[in-house]
Parts: sequence; C-alpha cells; structure tokens
Amino acid sequence: MHTYFFEIKTDCSHCGNPLLVNAFAREIRCDKCNQDNIIGAKLWKVIVVDSINEASNYQDGQKRTTKMFTGGLEFSMSYGKRNARCSKCRTMIPDNVFESFEGGEYKCAECGNAISIRKPDDFVKQILPSAKFIAGEDTGQIKTGIQGIQKPEEHKPVIFTCPACAANLKVDGTKRIIDCTYCDASIYLPDDLWFELHPAKTVETWYVINN
Ligand SMILES: [Zn+2]
Ligand SMILES: [Zn+2]
Ligand SMILES: [Zn+2]
Repeated sequence: MHTYFFEIKTDCSHCGNPLLVNAFAREIRCDKCNQDNIIGAKLWKVIVVDSINEASNYQDGQKRTTKMFTGGLEFSMSYGKRNARCSKCRTMIPDNVFESFEGGEYKCAECGNAISIRKPDDFVKQILPSAKFIAGEDTGQIKTGIQGIQKPEEHKPVIFTCPACAANLKVDGTKRIIDCTYCDASIYLPDDLWFELHPAKTVETWYVINN
C-alpha cells in the first residue's frame, strides 16, 4: 500500500477566478460564479494516474511542484508520496485505519478534526482502479449522494434587507439570486454579502491510498 498526496488549483473556466481542486471529483463548483467546472476522466488520468506512476519511484516524503496545461486549463499542482495526515495538527492517520474503515468521517486521534475518508466511487474507479481510499477531500466539493460522505453543513442564515420592499429576508448562501417572499422581486445578492457567506478557501491536501 502506498499513499500519494495532491494539492491542485486551476482557474474557473467560466469566470477566471482561482478554483481549488480539493477533491477527486468530476465537477468542481466555483464559489465565485456558482458554475460547475467539469474535469473529465481523461483529464484526471493525466493529473492523477501519470503523477502516481512517476511518484511511485519517489522516496517517502519526496514531492514535485509543477504547472500543467491540459484540456484547456492550467493546473498548478504539487504531488508526491507521503502518508495521509490531519490538515490541522499534521498527525498521521495510522495505516490500520485503512484496513477496516468503511468510509465517512474519521476523527483525528490527536485533535479531533474531522477528516473525510471514502472508498472510490465509480468515477474514481474508472480512472484509477488500484485506489483503495481517497482521504482529506473537501466534502463540500464532492457531490452529495456518495455513500458515507456527509452533506456539507448548511450556512447559518444571515438577514438581508430586500432592496425593493425593505422586508428582512433570511439568506443562507445556497443561491446567489433569491426571490423576496414578500414582494416577489428577484434579488441578486451583492458581492460583499456573497463573499462573506463563501469565505476564501485554501488549497487542501488530499490523498490517494493506493494498492
Ligand atoms: Zn467561476
Ligand atoms: Zn489532528
Ligand atoms: Zn421584497
């Protein structure tokens, strides 16, 4: 069993803002323009399979940082061979966790941080049949409906005043355009509120536990 890590970002193909690829998923939703970016199986093969083939000869802890132009997108990525760790306290996830884990949330033994661990879905299997687990992904980037992964926590609603009728509306950040429940106006939420509901995230390290 070998574990490989990935840190990947690119730019949203719709709006050009930075897009963090914090999950091994076909669709990554841009939190600035709310549109999906598709990273198809062919592209993932270049990103993950070619990198793993190269990194399989690496020493433990060895890594490479590179830029990759493929499929019309530019990816900035680091990858290498390293055991999966907690993103908060950097404690290693013990190997035996991967022998019996059924997927879902693993709590870091040191700090209690919730770390996502899942078995490959059909999309991942098709690209990398030797993958045993994917760990450390941003669960909000993985589409819901995958077994063992919890739905991303809903935002706490904030109050926003309808510019048309001055009614107080609850906004939870799931939609950029909302309908006022009092006057029926369609309201496009202003940037400052939208970005407050969707704070800038950072590139997360995620792991492929490979057979
Ligand atoms: Zn975008
Ligand atoms: Zn921890
Ligand atoms: Zn209104």
